[in-house]
Amino acid sequence: MTKPRILTGDTPTGRLHLGHWVGSVERRVALQDQYDCYFLLANMHAFTTRFDKPQEIRQDTIEIVKDWLAAGIDPQKSTIVLQTEVPAIAELTWFFAMLLSFNDVMGNPTLVHELETKGLKDSYSFGFPMYTVGQCADILAFRPELVPVGEDQAPHIEMCRKAARKFNQLYCGVSNRADDHEHVKLGGVFPVPKALIGRVGRLPGAGDGKQKMSKSLGNAIFLSDGAKEVQKKINKITTGRQSPTEPGDPENVLFKFVEAFITDQARVAELKDRYARGDNIGDGHIKAELAEAINRLLEPMRARRAEFETPGGDDRIIEIIKAGVKRANVVAEETLYLAKRAMGLDFGRRVLA
Ligand code: ATP
Ligand code: MG
Repeated sequence: MTKPRILTGDTPTGRLHLGHWVGSVERRVALQDQYDCYFLLANMHAFTTRFDKPQEIRQDTIEIVKDWLAAGIDPQKSTIVLQTEVPAIAELTWFFAMLLSFNDVMGNPTLVHELETKGLKDSYSFGFPMYTVGQCADILAFRPELVPVGEDQAPHIEMCRKAARKFNQLYCGVSNRADDHEHVKLGGVFPVPKALIGRVGRLPGAGDGKQKMSKSLGNAIFLSDGAKEVQKKINKITTGRQSPTEPGDPENVLFKFVEAFITDQARVAELKDRYARGDNIGDGHIKAELAEAINRLLEPMRARRAEFETPGGDDRIIEIIKAGVKRANVVAEETLYLAKRAMGLDFGRRVLA
């Protein structure tokens, strides 16, 4: 019996934050036993915005693996995929670039939003929009059923589903009336994978809550932050409320965090009720309780991370990456072969050293 596959990942543009945890990483840890999991380091995609900072990308790649291990991802069970060492991904990107239209890519709402919020509007590289096509290849190279991601990724997964359907219809004879779940059974190379949106699809940043928490926007609480840093950042959440007796909105940015991180549901309900009535409960009090809950979650992660923050720690991470790459290439090369065969490009099957 083979387990169904999962693929998801992160771009090494910085360390992992609480948004990653509630949006995706928590699910990854929970599903490791039931699924054959592939977790991808999108280091090629980090170059789309940081091509001038290769050293930072290299270090962030290592730091993200530390974050994964700290969060509870087990490299014995799950496969770590380094994008730049899996050539099939780059090749599949070209094929999918032909199946998606220019407007599919440039009209992708997440891409449009990123150009806006990341200040890229007039200066982005030719390669930047390509990452959305590349992401179709990242996913489909592993022919997964599920892709656990945050809400902002939904348009990307939709594009990926479109590419999979189109490939199967064009090159594998799958009818365009076939249901998504039937594509492989009907001879399609690619399953039409489903997004699995996290427990919290969009955690706001620690600030006014207008933007999502993002490592590129300077509003993130990192899984590797110390206890004091966490409290300091939580204190930056602004609600505009003036006093403990002013009735507050229990759906505001502060309460998005309360709901995400205070696990005692009865306590959450009590806080909401008192807040809404302005029953002598200050934002400061809630922030202290919140930071305590977050620190309880992060403490075991800090301890596991510390094991790799010793001399030789980075080298051990690199060995873990190399072992993952070997396993990843077995699957991705097979996918590429199947795709090329379907396209009439089977002029010899290569074997990677
Ligand atoms: P960048 O700013 O460089 O785009 P990011 O913080 O958005 O970084 P990604 O590497 O793009 O992080 O995202 C990795 C995964 O984490 C994706 O599945 C994404 O949907 C999810 N994610 C990122 N930020 C959040 C958030 N604030 N809330 C929920 N999920 C999130
Ligand atoms: Mg992002």
